[in-house]
Amino acid sequence: MAQDNSVVKEITIVGAGIVGIVTAIYLQREGHRVTVVDRQAPGEGTSFGNAGSVAPGSIIPVAMPGTLKQVPKWLSDPLGPLSLSWRQLPFMLPWFLHFQRACNADRVRLGAAILRSLNAPAVEAYADLLTAAGAPELLRREGMLHVYKTEAGFKASAFGRQLRTDNGCVVELVDVDKIRELAPGLSAGYRWGFNLPDNAHVHSPLGVVQALAAHFKNNGGTLIRATVTDIRCDAGGTVRLHTDGMTLSTECVVIAAGYASANLAAKLGTRVPLAPERGYHIEIPGAALAQHCPVTDGESRFVATTMAGGLRIAGTSEFQAADAAPNWARAAALATLAEGMFPGIKAVNYSRWMGVRPSTPDSTPIIGRSTRHQQVVFAFGHGHWGLMAAPVTGQLVADLVADRVPRIDISPFRPERFRFIGSGSRPA
Ligand SMILES: Cc1cc2nc3c(=O)[nH]c(=O)nc-3n(C[C@H](O)[C@H](O)[C@H](O)COP(=O)(O)OP(=O)(O)OC[C@H]3O[C@@H](n4cnc5c(N)ncnc54)[C@H](O)[C@@H]3O)c2cc1C
Repeated sequence: MAQDNSVVKEITIVGAGIVGIVTAIYLQREGHRVTVVDRQAPGEGTSFGNAGSVAPGSIIPVAMPGTLKQVPKWLSDPLGPLSLSWRQLPFMLPWFLHFQRACNADRVRLGAAILRSLNAPAVEAYADLLTAAGAPELLRREGMLHVYKTEAGFKASAFGRQLRTDNGCVVELVDVDKIRELAPGLSAGYRWGFNLPDNAHVHSPLGVVQALAAHFKNNGGTLIRATVTDIRCDAGGTVRLHTDGMTLSTECVVIAAGYASANLAAKLGTRVPLAPERGYHIEIPGAALAQHCPVTDGESRFVATTMAGGLRIAGTSEFQAADAAPNWARAAALATLAEGMFPGIKAVNYSRWMGVRPSTPDSTPIIGRSTRHQQVVFAFGHGHWGLMAAPVTGQLVADLVADRVPRIDISPFRPERFRFIGSGSRPA
């Protein structure tokens, strides 16, 4: 609840994904009157279909020193982790220039420390949030196994493992026997690996957002179903949100609309490079792997997680217009990879899903006040880490709204850090 010296504010959040809903709860806990606006039901955006990792050890930026060299190999492999729409390339050039700059060992070391500051508190934060919401069983503390078929692939993970240990993550090397013990159904082809015992996962990413949204509502929060089409800030300090059905006035607005945030921020004069990095999952119903911890194939770059509805295989980075039709061949590729990972499984009757990661080129989200409008706070661009980074993001937004010194240094998250102008994708 609000501290005695705090000021209660009327706050509207655009976006009822995991970032928006968790932020709403932290603001509500401080006594603010909070409304969340979304064009869909809570959790129906990208937060619906992720791999569920809540991982203090997930701190390795996407842009790594060897990443660019791998790109031709990945692009030429139909089962590979990367695909790119060449028509999208002209719009993405500024984003790729930033990405190229980020593939530098010193920047990567800095990026890993920043991701650690966001992700380290995540497991305890979700334990607290989900207990308060009456759904603690959604959080599983079972670690995360990373496995490799080739020694060369495993050796290539040395820098990432070093970054983890340098940042205080527990990394346990595992031999073939330990791999079998942790994941008995795994193909014998996986012979090298490491375990991150402190990692956790959620058993239903959608279930988590729904439980937290219900908790927010039960505590007096307001959820509105509408599409925000424009945002204007009055000279007097009021923010007006124009939607397809009404105009909402508020003292403070938090932009947490995932990939769509870049367009909303641009309406307020802030341009950031945000790429639509599309990912896919398939979910195989009833796959009998309930005892397994999540398993990541470190070479083919996908993750297998047991969820409430079955075995979810998630992965793929597809740089394509956010609103282009899904390329279901990417989902079919995940089905092939799943059968290779777990020979006892037949990938049939699976559901398939595509979602848009809101990705910055430096793997660091955009969190902070707009320099143009003090009553606007940005909380988006979480790329591969939105589920795990949502709690610290929400706490930082609460610090900013309360005019407190933020609990961690927020300068790495400032939107103005990008030198090249460009939206990162075809304008909507
Ligand atoms: C395959 C895959 C696997 C992943 N695995 C993991 C993982 O294991 N762990 C992890 O931490 N992260 C993972 N991620 C990333 C994670 O899912 C995202 O970072 C996260 O969901 C982003 O959350 P968000 O709340 O910012 O966005 P979203 O969930 O997309 O929410 C944004 C919301 O804003 C709404 N909205 C947008 N525009 C408007 C508008 N104009 N008006 C009203 N509402 C609007 C949308 O409807 C949506 O509900 C994965 C992503 C993918 C694709």
